Amino acid sequence: MEWETVIGLEVHAQLATNSKIFSGAATAFGAEPNTQACAIDLGLPGVLPVLNRDTVAMAIKLGLSVNAEIAERSVFARKNYFYPDLPKGYQISQYELPIVKSGYLDVILDDGSIKRIGITRAHLEEDAGKSLHEDFSNMTGVDFNRAGTPLLEIVSEPDMRSAKEAIAYLKTLHALVRYLGICDGNMQEGSFRCDANVSVRPKGQAKFGTRAEIKNVNSFRFVEKAIEYEVKRQIALIESGGTVLQETRLYDADKDETRSMRSKEEANDYRYFPDPDLLPLMVTAEWVEKIRSELPELPAQKRERFQREYELSAYDAAVLVSSKELAMYFEEVLKHTQAPAKLVTNWVMGDLAAALNKANLDIATSPVSAEQLAGLLNRMHDNTISGKIAKEVFEALWHGAKDADSVINERGLQQVTDTSAIEKIIDDVIHANPAQLADYRSGKDRLFGYFVGQVMKLSQGKANPEQVNNLLKEKLK
Ligand code: ADP
Ligand code: MG
Repeated sequence: MEWETVIGLEVHAQLATNSKIFSGAATAFGAEPNTQACAIDLGLPGVLPVLNRDTVAMAIKLGLSVNAEIAERSVFARKNYFYPDLPKGYQISQYELPIVKSGYLDVILDDGSIKRIGITRAHLEEDAGKSLHEDFSNMTGVDFNRAGTPLLEIVSEPDMRSAKEAIAYLKTLHALVRYLGICDGNMQEGSFRCDANVSVRPKGQAKFGTRAEIKNVNSFRFVEKAIEYEVKRQIALIESGGTVLQETRLYDADKDETRSMRSKEEANDYRYFPDPDLLPLMVTAEWVEKIRSELPELPAQKRERFQREYELSAYDAAVLVSSKELAMYFEEVLKHTQAPAKLVTNWVMGDLAAALNKANLDIATSPVSAEQLAGLLNRMHDNTISGKIAKEVFEALWHGAKDADSVINERGLQQVTDTSAIEKIIDDVIHANPAQLADYRSGKDRLFGYFVGQVMKLSQGKANPEQVNNLLKEKLK
């Protein structure tokens, strides 16, 4: 039997505000436990929450960027449950009437095709505190610093059909919130967390299978692995006569498996009701329009512009806009070079990306600045150096050299373009290889490459390859 995977994602993006969603306490990461939770966050008697206006503006920004409807009126509800890290006994969250509904995000898949993923809703809510199990023996510590931190929960439609699609969606959304400046996207610190809902169904069946929800996986790679594991588990379970339970599961990265955590609670278990401490949230059309007019260029727009302006493929453009910093770097290189955009793209996505990857650095901390790379590409573009020598110059820049020109001058790496000098080298090579010459002339065309190689070698990589090709053809005749 052929199976189809169905995935819907719930993403919690921590909003990049200085203070909490209903209080003035700070949200900075990494503070001493329990130094950033005030009476409101702790739900002490007599306090009242006051909504942080910035969080609303941020939710509107996201909503507009995913082509969604912004609700004129939305309502905060209490989601009631008991847990030690939830001092009030309820979480304030938007439930029936969220601020953002029915949008979509277009995602570029690896093959360059575009897939539209529906966004059901996005709602504002507060985070809970954190239980610390590891720092104490036989005890659990509770840190309330995170209580009341603003979150935007972005819920997708069950539109994804593979782990790869889910990751593509997640990365697109991750880039978007960072472009908008509403979330720092730091997954290790939990600023961008994802629950993956996964089910399988026989191919061709309209009805969805029962889903399991995998909680809080904290890297793209683990989300992908968790989904892949879960799909295999569900298929094996059904094929051996079992049924998938609707439950919450945890991904264990060390063992690369998911484990049952608890059976899935139903909405009515939470006894949701409108929070009587908070007025309905009213958003005026003027405010929405003002925010719309202030939106930055979004990744999708940037991608289209890159394709148009620089004649890049959809895939290249998508990679370059995948982070704001990478897109900025790329355009900064272009500003300082006459080299064609395709050459810049190849270097940014090729040699530079590989070097950064290997050193575990990101573009913002690249040892080779955009201007330095542009300087290097200029010398390639005006034929001062060949592509091969460019790699050597790049190495030098990576290890601290000032600029391409000084490396080229100090090491005498200028390409040899003087015809007579190249001819001299060619003559030497031909004289040194009489047997190969005879073979070549008797029809072994493949040996042409051998001669090119020898000439380049003798010139220490500095002969202009195009000239070498042309002159060799003549001389070998
Ligand atoms: P809850 O809030 O209880 O987690 P929702 O109905 O809001 O449940 O759905 C949460 C997520 O689960 C959504 O992203 C949705 O797309 C996804 N989802 C719903 N049904 C399925 C299914 N059968 N398979 C995979 N994902 C699903
Ligand atoms: Mg859920």
